Amino acid sequence: MQIKVNEPYMVDDLVVYFVSEKEALVTDYDCRFELETTTDRCNCCTFRFRSCRDSGFQCRHIKAVRKLLK
Ligand SMILES: [Zn+2]
Repeated sequence: MQIKVNEPYMVDDLVVYFVSEKEALVTDYDCRFELETTTDRCNCCTFRFRSCRDSGFQCRHIKAVRKLLK
């Protein structure tokens, strides 16, 4: 799928909005702020916590971005 920058995409409960070819703002339904997400990092609490122990961890925001970019 060819994604367009600056257009919102729905992935399940998430809204993914690409600001460049590789970086997206992800809005979660239970979050009040936008997350900055790429295919291998995210600034949500889950990712920051889990990636310390598991370097390959993908939170659902990363999965949503990957799903659109594949
Ligand atoms: Zn995340």
